[in-house]
Amino acid sequence: MQADHQADYIVVGAGSAGSVVAARLSENGRNRVLLLEAGGSDRRLAILMPAATMLLAITNPRYDWRFMAEPDPTRDGREDYMPRGKVLGGTSSINATSFIRGAPEDYNGWAALGCRGWDFETVLPYFRRLEDYEGGANEYRGAGGPLSVSHIRSVHPLSRALIESCVKAGMTFREDINLPPQMGVGYMQASQRKGWRHSASRAYLWPAKGRDNLRIVTHAQALGLTFEGARATGVEYLRRGRRRRATAAKAVVLCAGSFGSPQLLMLSGVGPAAHLREHGIEVRHDLPGVGENMQDHAGISQTMWVNHTTYNVQTGPLSAMVYGAQWLLTGTGPGSTPIAQVCGYRRCDPSKSRSHVQYLFSPAGYDLTEDGPEVFEKPAITGLTNLHRPYSAGTVRLASADPLKQPAIQPNLFADERDIETLILGSRFFRTVLESEPIAGYIVGEHLPGKDVQSDDEWTDYIRAHAMGVYHPAGTCKMGHDPMAVVNDSLKVHGLEGLFVADASIMPTVVSANLNATCIMIGERAAELIPASA
Ligand SMILES: Cc1cc2nc3c(=O)[nH]c(=O)nc-3n(C[C@H](O)[C@H](O)[C@H](O)COP(=O)(O)OP(=O)(O)OC[C@H]3O[C@@H](n4cnc5c(N)ncnc54)[C@H](O)[C@@H]3O)c2cc1C
Repeated sequence: MQADHQADYIVVGAGSAGSVVAARLSENGRNRVLLLEAGGSDRRLAILMPAATMLLAITNPRYDWRFMAEPDPTRDGREDYMPRGKVLGGTSSINATSFIRGAPEDYNGWAALGCRGWDFETVLPYFRRLEDYEGGANEYRGAGGPLSVSHIRSVHPLSRALIESCVKAGMTFREDINLPPQMGVGYMQASQRKGWRHSASRAYLWPAKGRDNLRIVTHAQALGLTFEGARATGVEYLRRGRRRRATAAKAVVLCAGSFGSPQLLMLSGVGPAAHLREHGIEVRHDLPGVGENMQDHAGISQTMWVNHTTYNVQTGPLSAMVYGAQWLLTGTGPGSTPIAQVCGYRRCDPSKSRSHVQYLFSPAGYDLTEDGPEVFEKPAITGLTNLHRPYSAGTVRLASADPLKQPAIQPNLFADERDIETLILGSRFFRTVLESEPIAGYIVGEHLPGKDVQSDDEWTDYIRAHAMGVYHPAGTCKMGHDPMAVVNDSLKVHGLEGLFVADASIMPTVVSANLNATCIMIGERAAELIPASA
């Protein structure tokens, strides 16, 4: 097939990491970069207004891949809805805009597993470089970078009350939740500029769009890779119903996310040999770790009915008009809220230095369900307790050799019982917080899990019946040097040339944070590492 396009680098996926890789690789004006993205434009209200995303973008096929997981045997066969951004900016365009970088121990843990150049001291300059933090630069924080990181513009009174209750319950108030040590409670920081979403696309691609050497092709779904021997030479993709081909003189970089990147590798014959043969795919390179090691943060909600207006009841047509206008004119109000306004970290075992759970508090009543987030109709608050360092791991496998079919995603969320035990400890503590003044004074009833959930067995049943991954899948093309590793320290796929992966899938262990900031850092690192080893 004749190539439709010739580039030096082809980047597949314009998400959190891919936007950065494409923008940085094209910065010198010389590298010809082709960025292929399956989704379309992100210049839409549903994307730019942070609070609108949950109502208008998630579950909307225009912006969301709408993945469904396989029945999970560790949770009574439940099948999770798993949103993923299918739009410029990828999942950074539909996420909740929380900006959290993770603990130094996360990256030092990667280094301890043998990933050279990924310890906290080495990655910190990339975190500082990527951001324009409203609080200004210091030893840990950056200013003047592409991604705007701001404080919440309209703090809800119940968020203030919750913080006071957390402190009463023994948590330390943190002025900046992104400074080590990652412990205590504080206000969320957001990837926003003046109350508008600042996705990886807005931060990196919008300013780069005029470059002659960067071609961004939307509605282009990669189907597989082309090879000459062990070298990746290009990508076949579908656009407007026609199969097309692009060639890469230097490298192909997969940034298709934790589901998309392993799927594309397997479709191209790179993955566990026996599994590929099951689907009639010719094995190009037997790499058993592709699609394994999928880690997510299991999360469990506690929802309380309250006697104060909360954001979930401010969504009717009149509210939409009033708050929409407020957001448009001032960038404030409910429209600008990151879904969680308060973030807490706690260790359940005081002898350990790292947090075991993260608390995300929203002045809004919702539950994560098998059909997507469900927003309640009465005033309510939600506390999500997330497992920070899971022992359990799931998989991404092919359901079919057809590239247009979704992969088979198996969360296996509670394969290891210790993960449930940690969630019980974390949730019990959060209930103590909710019983402390001043937040207790606003609560008129417990909706979830309900007061009848008290014993370990009752909590275990509730968690198995309600917990879900909080949309942070990682690790399915993990970096490392053991037989299950997929990429090396430079993010090059083991055993092949000219092929790299850069996105959440390369995390050897999921970081104890929401993943967007880390994925952007991975994009920054990748753009430096790849040219040196392409
Ligand atoms: C609802 C939700 C809320 C979240 N909230 C937060 C939050 O508040 N803070 C936070 O830090 N994290 C949050 N996350 C997680 C975080 O946003 C993601 O982990 C992160 O954006 C993943 O980045 P990535 O680069 O790995 O992949 P993505 O950003 O998902 O990018 C992958 C890109 O590749 C494209 N693609 C995939 N396959 C193909 C193909 N075959 N051909 C062409 N293009 C393809 C996709 O369309 C997408 O644009 C949230 C996630 C979800 C779903």
